[in-house]
Amino acid sequence: MEKQLDPMKDDLPLMANTSHMLVKHYTLDLDVDFKSQIIEGIIVFFFETGSRYRKTSSTDEEGCQSQFDETCKIRASEPCHIPVTDLSACSSTMEYNDFAVCGKGEKDTSDKNGNHSNGEQASGIPSSKNCCDIENHGSTDFLLVLDCCDLSVLKVEEVDVAAVADIEKFARSAKLTDASEELGNLRNQIVHELVTLPADRWKEQLYYYTRCSQAPGCGELLFTTGTWSLEIRKLGICTPRDFPHAIRIWYKTKPEGRSVTWTTDQSGRPCVYTMGSPINNRALFPCQEPPVALSTWQATVRTAARFVVLMSGENSAEPVQLQEGILSWYYYVTMPMPASTFTIAIGCWEEVKQQPFTADVQTNSDFSLPFSQADLRWHEERCGHVEYPCRFQNPAARLQTVIPYRVFAPWCLMENCKELVLQLIPQCLSAAYTTLGTHPFSRLDVLIVPSNFSSLGMASPHIIFLSQSVLPGGQHLCGARLCHEIAHAWFGLAIGARDWTEEWISEGFATYLEDIFWARAQQLSHDEVKGQQELKALLRWRRLRDEVQNSEEELQVLRPNKENTGEVSESGASVVKHGLKAEKIFLQVHYLKGYFLLRSLARAIGEASYLASLRKFVHKFHGQLVLSQDFLYMLLEDIPEQKESGLTVESIFQNWLDTSGMPKPLLEEGETWKECQLVQQVSGELLPDQLVLLLESLLEEKTLCPRTLQCLEKTYKLREQDAEVRHRWCELIVKHKYVPGYGDVEKFLREDQAMGVYLYGELMVNEDAKQQELAYKCFAAAQEHMDVSSAKVVAEMLF
Ligand SMILES: [Zn+2]
Repeated sequence: MEKQLDPMKDDLPLMANTSHMLVKHYTLDLDVDFKSQIIEGIIVFFFETGSRYRKTSSTDEEGCQSQFDETCKIRASEPCHIPVTDLSACSSTMEYNDFAVCGKGEKDTSDKNGNHSNGEQASGIPSSKNCCDIENHGSTDFLLVLDCCDLSVLKVEEVDVAAVADIEKFARSAKLTDASEELGNLRNQIVHELVTLPADRWKEQLYYYTRCSQAPGCGELLFTTGTWSLEIRKLGICTPRDFPHAIRIWYKTKPEGRSVTWTTDQSGRPCVYTMGSPINNRALFPCQEPPVALSTWQATVRTAARFVVLMSGENSAEPVQLQEGILSWYYYVTMPMPASTFTIAIGCWEEVKQQPFTADVQTNSDFSLPFSQADLRWHEERCGHVEYPCRFQNPAARLQTVIPYRVFAPWCLMENCKELVLQLIPQCLSAAYTTLGTHPFSRLDVLIVPSNFSSLGMASPHIIFLSQSVLPGGQHLCGARLCHEIAHAWFGLAIGARDWTEEWISEGFATYLEDIFWARAQQLSHDEVKGQQELKALLRWRRLRDEVQNSEEELQVLRPNKENTGEVSESGASVVKHGLKAEKIFLQVHYLKGYFLLRSLARAIGEASYLASLRKFVHKFHGQLVLSQDFLYMLLEDIPEQKESGLTVESIFQNWLDTSGMPKPLLEEGETWKECQLVQQVSGELLPDQLVLLLESLLEEKTLCPRTLQCLEKTYKLREQDAEVRHRWCELIVKHKYVPGYGDVEKFLREDQAMGVYLYGELMVNEDAKQQELAYKCFAAAQEHMDVSSAKVVAEMLF
């Protein structure tokens, strides 16, 4: 079972033991220094005991959590599984005086990786063999494992949440005694009550998270850092239930850390921003990376006053001056999400604002609620996720077509953004709403990121990064990209992939929905929509065909772990297959295959009922993590007629998700694009007058190389076109002295004498011997039977 924890060098390890301890909230306190390119951080974690060690199955854990538990149960192999009762028993029989050498594989807490060691505590490492051994390398202490990389960890301590005034109300059920063990229980009890407060008390919860994060420490904890992890333990504590549920870590980032990029913006001013994958935020703060660790966060960021701090937070932070030249920014979220979706960007950006006299940008004027009554019944159902103040339950939020938005850009791109991005956002947001309903997030910032950003866009909660590359050349690329990133609010963020190897779930949906949103945003007619989408499909088909021919086969599989997808080890750790493979970021095969699968399902079902199913899926699974089959089973359940025609989840796995190469159904589809009008227009099926216009505009070009002319002839089959078209073709041949086309000219002069007269003139004016020879030759052959006045005119040209 643990074999999968032996990552290949291209696989990304997710080390955190989330089955033992599960983070519910992070409090971050960051000082950002641009001179040293270092962020100094203090982070406080608030934990729940992991699913594997909870006393009873808690009733408030539903959705993804319960699915996750099922997986754990399946994976629980006997030697590892220790019933909770045994664990608590062993903690009371610990022999603290049994000092011994470190067990096999146990790491020293000394100075490597720049960490400190606490000599006093290090001398007390117990190694009693009579205690439980939860895969912590021979030691008896429970080991909390966090994902962490390229961070200097300075100190780890337990937080005395019991020291916070008024906090006792969270610990009604706990009995206060003097015993230190009891005090530990009390603290954990307080944290438990705090992290499980009902959704309507979120403000109180946030307030106490802040207070608790500022509470004094009550003992340092031992820690070790490895390449990918930070391991923490408390002497004598050998179960997750007894381990401190609130811990504080002091750390520093390293300039070379791969979670953030320090660079300059397009106006030459310094900035720093998070990169997203492959390693996400583990070089920005220690965290639990596995998506199952859905958590909320709050962050205070201090930096020099000239910088703007943008972050995935549901409030639009207003900076507070702390001291001369230093501002503090505070953000928070109340919807639990994976730590990988946390995003921050700090730079000298400015907010792009509407001219004061411009009327508010219109949203779709013909807007009407797109859902049928039957559709709306899902709104009445309870949400399937853990408690949080959900917008799907909020009547006002459910009617919000366009959420509040802001645009930030470097100074030199402000005008461009004002004209384009600022106009497009409300149209795209509104189109997304008419397609999918309630926006999962309450607001949106769009930032034009520095030119070294490696993708055209990236979506995070409340913030979208957009590349400057989408700005020039009209609104098409920018609008489509915005739609793609906006679609991720539903697919990728509100609904996450439980297993990161299944990125097609977010990318496939976003690519499919991008077309739908963008068509609606442009308010196109049905035929225009169809044309645009077919053309786009053909381009993607060609790209996919090229990628499957030119990439490693195993990178072309959308569900590389097949039936093991979503499974983790006993501790909750796993590896993301190919997660670190560099060439993977240049591949679009996951986007494209996912897109074509969703498109083919839409075509089978009909777009209207398909979109209704997507809305139902969103209602059922928002705030949760899913696997491919969650979507596929729900969809096939809704359309029994598809089942009869042989479409099954198994056949979809086989044809689309579990195999490399071009999906079989797509191979058969290769020819269908020929009927699309926009495709025909490009593939030689221009109307004759369109061709004439095209060739005439080409005649205005000074130079055209022979290769271009050859392609032109081949693409538009110019030799088979009508005389008007062939006439322009011959003019091009003569103008550019395209020798391989001289036969066409000769033929034209012979067979199209009604139109060929002026061509003689053009053959002569170039004063090219070959062309003149051609003119004489043709005239000599035709002269005899030529119309008299035509012959006279030509003769004057020639002699
Ligand atoms: Zn909800």
